[in-house]
Amino acid sequence: MRLKNKVALITGAARGIGESIAKAYAAEGAFVYVTDIDLTNGLIVAQAIGSSASFVFLDVRNEKAWSDITDSIIETHGRLDIVVNNAGITGFEESFEPHDPEHATLEAWRSVHETNLDGVFLGCKYAIRAMRVTGSGSIINISSRSGLVGIPAAAAYASSKAAVRNHTKSVALYCAEQGMKVRCNSIHPAAILTPMWEPMLGSGPDREANMAMFVQDTPLRRFGMPEEVAAVAVMLAADESSYMTGSEINIDGGILAGSAGVPSEKT
Ligand code: NAD
Repeated sequence: MRLKNKVALITGAARGIGESIAKAYAAEGAFVYVTDIDLTNGLIVAQAIGSSASFVFLDVRNEKAWSDITDSIIETHGRLDIVVNNAGITGFEESFEPHDPEHATLEAWRSVHETNLDGVFLGCKYAIRAMRVTGSGSIINISSRSGLVGIPAAAAYASSKAAVRNHTKSVALYCAEQGMKVRCNSIHPAAILTPMWEPMLGSGPDREANMAMFVQDTPLRRFGMPEEVAAVAVMLAADESSYMTGSEINIDGGILAGSAGVPSEKT
């Protein structure tokens, strides 16, 4: 029960990584606000968790909604200990048209940043305000491996995730300057098997081959599972990580560690 008596809010928790984090937090004793724009699946996740979870519709782009939900949590519980800014989009949900630096539309660029970056900015802003009540808390921003390297076909996504990485450090420093025990850290996953991948993997006979292709450069040669990201998110939420702020944790099967550098047979 590493999160006993803590109150957590997780965005984009109706499926994928957010769902796993919500379930892991509840299993560790937290009361969890499962939030998302996907009402149907959000309710299913909260119901599966039971009495220690509640679903609230929250579009992370909507500032008024952030103000309302954090006010309501403070009114109900008198505290908000953990905020996980997890909601994110690739921009490929509707159609798989690459957002490369030459052809991406300004509209697509702005739309990805509105969810991935503006949403995290608002999440941090209202988390800090709510955490002032106790003067402590943990904010966890889900960035990506794409926030650390360039991704030519997903330039908007990579840019938004890089900005999340940097904003995490600004938030961490600001809270420390303010004398608050509010920590802020980022997690950088890569190739985690969630519904986000479905448009790229497909469901036909090529699925297995597509999966193998996407992880061929990953040293562990497999997709990660959302539960593996949730385990890191538990550690960052718990008091055991009390000296960690402004940090970034990669969870990527070793992909950012570098290349193996094995000479080919021809050389
Ligand atoms: P997912 O697509 O399976 O789930 C994302 C959830 O966010 C969905 O339930 C969706 O409804 C919700 N959402 C989208 N827009 C929203 C909005 N405006 N307000 C509130 N909720 C919104 O994605 P996932 O794979 O679970 O990814 C979760 C996070 O992890 C994202 O930030 C993603 O960028 C990041 N990430 C994922 C991977 C991966 O390989 N899966 C890799 C790196 C980073």
